[in-house]
Amino acid sequence: MSAYHRMFQHADDEIQIPKQKCWNCGYEMDSTTEALDRGLPCEGDASMCLSCGALSVFNKDLTMRKPTEAELAVFNANPLITQMQIYRAGIVGDQIKNRNHQDEQDEDE
Ligand SMILES: [Zn+2]
Repeated sequence: MSAYHRMFQHADDEIQIPKQKCWNCGYEMDSTTEALDRGLPCEGDASMCLSCGALSVFNKDLTMRKPTEAELAVFNANPLITQMQIYRAGIVGDQIKNRNHQDEQDEDE
């Protein structure tokens, strides 16, 4: 099975992390989804905000921080992170579609 498929299969496995906010948009989160099927995130691993798509880096205690320029360059060259961004775009796209659908139903009533 390819890494691509594993990523989707395990996309619902949530891992508890300290409650914290996205450095970029302030989105509050207390769990993370392991996209790479490796269990707990490690120090230096990338995480992506579902709300705004900003990448963060895990600290040892599973809090997250803004990546440095050098880290961002490495993440952006990583095909798995590109896949995560596409996956996130799909989730957000579905939410917008569902919301539009809801609006249409409201207008009918
Ligand atoms: Zn965010």
